[in-house]
Amino acid sequence: MSEEAQGMGMVDELAGVPTVEEIERHPMDDLLRGERLPHIWCQGCGIGTAVSCFISALMRSGLDLDKVAVVSGIGCTGRVAGYIRLDSFHTTHGRAIPFATGLKLANPEMKVVVFSGDGDLIAIGGNHFIHAARRNMDLTVICVNNFNYGMTGGQMGPTTPTEARTSTSRRGNLEHPFNVPYLAAAAGATYVARWTVLHARRLERSIYKALLKPGFTVVEAISPCPTLYGRWNRKKYGTDMFEYYHQQAVIRHDAQPWEVDIGLAGEIVCGEFVDVERPTFQQMYERLHPDVRPAEDLGLLHRPPTELDAGFEPAPLPPIDVREVTPAQVGTVSTAQVSEAEHVEMRLCGFGGQGIVLAGLIAGKAVALHDHREATFTQSYGPESRGGACSAAIVVSDEAILYPYVTRPNLIAAMYQEAYTTYHGQLAEGGVLLIDEDLVQPDPETGQRVVPVPATRIAEQELGRAQVANVVMLGAIAAVGGGISTEALRQSVLESVPKGTEELNARAFDRGYEYAQGVMASSIAE
Ligand code: SF4
Repeated sequence: MSEEAQGMGMVDELAGVPTVEEIERHPMDDLLRGERLPHIWCQGCGIGTAVSCFISALMRSGLDLDKVAVVSGIGCTGRVAGYIRLDSFHTTHGRAIPFATGLKLANPEMKVVVFSGDGDLIAIGGNHFIHAARRNMDLTVICVNNFNYGMTGGQMGPTTPTEARTSTSRRGNLEHPFNVPYLAAAAGATYVARWTVLHARRLERSIYKALLKPGFTVVEAISPCPTLYGRWNRKKYGTDMFEYYHQQAVIRHDAQPWEVDIGLAGEIVCGEFVDVERPTFQQMYERLHPDVRPAEDLGLLHRPPTELDAGFEPAPLPPIDVREVTPAQVGTVSTAQVSEAEHVEMRLCGFGGQGIVLAGLIAGKAVALHDHREATFTQSYGPESRGGACSAAIVVSDEAILYPYVTRPNLIAAMYQEAYTTYHGQLAEGGVLLIDEDLVQPDPETGQRVVPVPATRIAEQELGRAQVANVVMLGAIAAVGGGISTEALRQSVLESVPKGTEELNARAFDRGYEYAQGVMASSIAE
């Protein structure tokens, strides 16, 4: 209300009504890195619920958030470190616990939380897990257990129930899984609990207790992976897995940890199994070395300056060896000219799980098998099958291709912000940048020609299957003339997709084509 209105004694009718910003604000916004969202997790995945429980527990705990650190390893759960607005570290595979141990030793006043998956913590990092428990290192471990390696394609892992099917145990797992609470308890953890993410409030309460209890505290969160584990075991939707938890979970506090094995179809025993007192590593250290703090003993803090510090000048970096690419070599190809150009380079990029590599393969086959031109196809991706950056690159030419890699693409189709950030600077002069407009925010300063296509939204909302977003984008590529004829690209799509999905993919291709044509027509009209 204005000062004048206040002076006249008028009543502010909006007093107490929250503003739009306040309404849109989520109570966990302060602890989430909103700029990194949307997250990479699948629909129906339980990791987000585990994160919510952790944040709620942390907010209630009263811990000084400036003195809380989160450490993750590799895997779908490993992404948590990137989404939480705390001091957080995304470490190498299986090494979250040793990293967290170092952090704690150097900063004894910190609360260090390890938030990672069953594969990372119990297989690759299994040895670290048991020895940190044995030492009673003052860490809280939240182990999200989805019974398989989700990020790399649903392989069998150390917690896969016997006889469960996975991508590497198609007739059923013939091994016996680790029982995580028993392993933690036997190795010396002071607090051990297990819940499914369906038990969100109990899970939150256990995380709260684990955060405040000294020593090595472990909370196992059984969490659905409908995309992979569920699909292999007749539970392909998140709701199927929640139904399974609802039917099979029983709460049995103080059950003996060796009695809480998880079988393929048996009970999932949940509850608090261990809550004991034992001196922590730090307490033992202080008792046996009363004259020194661990960090000072290790020389990690307050290191006195040395001569090297004073005189250190970094050596100049050697010049970067880049191939000089001139406009004459790559051509100054405009949108209209791309399809007639003799030599066209194209890059599709996004994150694992979007079908980027498959789309590149389809494009390469279209050129070589249907347009009968020369083509090379190269791909780059990380070990992750979901969420890692990936790119597919195609060179198209009427002549033999002497250098197979893409250096100055005439066309880039970017379906993820990080992929855009990495590659958009390579775009050749006059080239075209196709973006998934809901996932990429282009830099207006570049002056590049951008054709926005909401490929993922079209796939999800119009066609009902997010998986065909890559084919929507291929249709858009055909529309802007990516050096491949439309007929060849459409034919290649239909030959490459799984049997029974041809009609859906044809619609996806046509919709992408139509949408991009509409965008280009309106930009010409302007
Ligand atoms: S692959 Fe599985 S664990 Fe990974 S995000 Fe998808 S549902 Fe979650």
